[in-house]
Amino acid sequence: MSTHTIHEPARQTPVIHETDVLVVGSGPGGLAAALAAARAGVEVTLLERFGCFGGNITVVGVEGFAWYRHDKTVEAGGIGWEFEERAKAMGAAVPESQSLSYELDSEGFKLVADALVEEAGIHPMLHRQFVAPIVDGDMITGVIVESKSGREAILAKRVIDATGDADIAQRAGAATVKTPVEDMQAASVMFHLAGVNKAKFMEGVKADPQTYRDWSTGEWEVETDGKEDTMFSPFLGKPFEQAIRDGVIPAHLNTIGGTWGAVHDSGEMTYMNLIHLAGCDGTDPDSMTRFEIEGRKQAMHAIESLRHYTPGCQDVRLRNFGMSIGIRDTRKIDAVYNMTEADVRGEARFDDSIGIYPEFIDGYGILILPTTGRYMHIPYRSMLPKGVQNLIVAGRATGGDRVAHAATRNMACCAVAGQGAGVAAAWSVKTGVGFHDIDLPTVQKMIVAQGVRIH
Ligand SMILES: Cc1cc2nc3c(=O)[nH]c(=O)nc-3n(C[C@H](O)[C@H](O)[C@H](O)COP(=O)(O)OP(=O)(O)OC[C@H]3O[C@@H](n4cnc5c(N)ncnc54)[C@H](O)[C@@H]3O)c2cc1C
Repeated sequence: MSTHTIHEPARQTPVIHETDVLVVGSGPGGLAAALAAARAGVEVTLLERFGCFGGNITVVGVEGFAWYRHDKTVEAGGIGWEFEERAKAMGAAVPESQSLSYELDSEGFKLVADALVEEAGIHPMLHRQFVAPIVDGDMITGVIVESKSGREAILAKRVIDATGDADIAQRAGAATVKTPVEDMQAASVMFHLAGVNKAKFMEGVKADPQTYRDWSTGEWEVETDGKEDTMFSPFLGKPFEQAIRDGVIPAHLNTIGGTWGAVHDSGEMTYMNLIHLAGCDGTDPDSMTRFEIEGRKQAMHAIESLRHYTPGCQDVRLRNFGMSIGIRDTRKIDAVYNMTEADVRGEARFDDSIGIYPEFIDGYGILILPTTGRYMHIPYRSMLPKGVQNLIVAGRATGGDRVAHAATRNMACCAVAGQGAGVAAAWSVKTGVGFHDIDLPTVQKMIVAQGVRIH
């Protein structure tokens, strides 16, 4: 990297907006945080760099919101549950193939998010990217954004960092940790297909049903509890192995494989999670550029393999890619409490619980499904960064080790944390008391009043 620098002159930056609570990033964490804070009675602004709310759901095309859900699964309810219910009501969800949940429609969810934001009276700000925090001593007082309008300032009494990458926490000087790039979970270029013969495809699935055991391919070994090994999974692996054997795709593409999402009567098959790009650093635009391009190439090889070897897919074509490469793993805050592998494997209980999440671990080579009724508490302290006041973090950048992250990164868990962070921010604005000195019993009561199970 070049060490050459330039000096940027100081400048006057217009303050374009002031708000009680500013939420930056509108994925499951940020959207839930904004809704929770607004419903708790404060002015909320939701800032997002792209043209739609929803984060990975709408930007990347991640539609499996609660694919872990089975008979005995115990969950928090709250805004995460509402995302699914509202999507169902608005025709933006279909039954999910491996669980008792609904798969969100990544396009339709844009409208769901718009409706929720409008109804809650949240001030929407799309197309502006956070670029720097405004700080006074160790206190964050707002953010600088960049957009087609140039550089602007937004002032806020409390800021919620829901960027997924802890962008604000890191730039405001809070302690953060980044997974070494060689250990990061792979990134994925996601895509959706058109032209599937649904009847033939489903016949093929039934004739050769795949299980979670099939996720272990030799290329990867996936640790399960054992119970997952015989359970149905919408997994696709064989077409790509065959394509390599027959020379249809290059031999080095032996990482292609994964799950299909929903197959529609209209011939669309969505949420194709087949491309895994190791070594992509989601905080480095050069790395992301390289892997966006590589991922699109690999996706076209995957489609070619499906055409050759998957029943019902002879005439498939690419419908669309996600708007952005999907990033699973970057920075997290070094929080007041960092969740641990023992917590997520061992039904952790915390006095400062802001919501529960079932025992669902998916990532870093582990897959444990919540078919048992086991669940853990999510502690408020895992959202609290050290060293910066008036800032809280929601979503996948909360504090925790690798295996803890394999649980808490999941979208419904991000929504649980987001709702807790939003309520805490509203309480903090109303009382003038900072996040570190919060009256937890009162905030917990407010969260429960919003329909969340916290114990
Ligand atoms: C390919 C893939 C498949 C996955 N599959 C599943 C699955 O099946 N089920 C599941 O539960 N989870 C899945 N995950 C994980 C899950 O999608 C994420 O962990 C989750 O969406 C994180 O939520 P979040 O709210 O923290 O962040 P995100 O959903 O990443 O949202 C962050 C938002 O912040 C915005 N933003 C970021 N930086 C800025 C900035 N500087 N200024 C303004 N806005 C900004 C982004 O544009 C984005 O909208 C998957 C992830 C990937 C990548």
